[in-house]
Amino acid sequence: MRCTFCRIVAGEAGGDVLYQDREITAFRDIRPQAPTHVLIVPNVHVSSLDQLFEVDSSLLVKMLSKAHDLAEATGIAVKGYRLVINTGPDAGQVVDHLHLHLLGGKPLQPNGMALRWKDEMT
Ligand code: AMP
Ligand code: ZN
Repeated sequence: MRCTFCRIVAGEAGGDVLYQDREITAFRDIRPQAPTHVLIVPNVHVSSLDQLFEVDSSLLVKMLSKAHDLAEATGIAVKGYRLVINTGPDAGQVVDHLHLHLLGGKPLQPNGMALRWKDEMT
């Protein structure tokens, strides 16, 4: 069975799609972590960034370029945005179809990366 993001790409699972072409698709995250939270994915199933370079590394540039376009189009580029690619279980990747998170629309706390490691949780 195809993965959730493959089904969104194919138009079989709904999804709030903001952009699609022959190679990539961008849609809103179903559980947004910021006022603007968009996922940009390759249309072809690639399980993570680790596998991308065996398939077509040029897709990464297209995904990043589209993130920039969407940041401009949604108005978050003026004040800034964060791009995230979780890769593998230690990084918290839960959907095994490569996706680039575009997050913005309000300021992050001024504490750098604000990473919370499992062995440091209280
Ligand atoms: P990650 O932890 O990097 O694998 O993030 C996966 C992201 O996919 C999470 O932010 C989820 O909220 C999001 N997500 C999961 N299922 C869907 C869906 N059907 N439509 C949109 N976003 C989804
Ligand atoms: Zn997939």
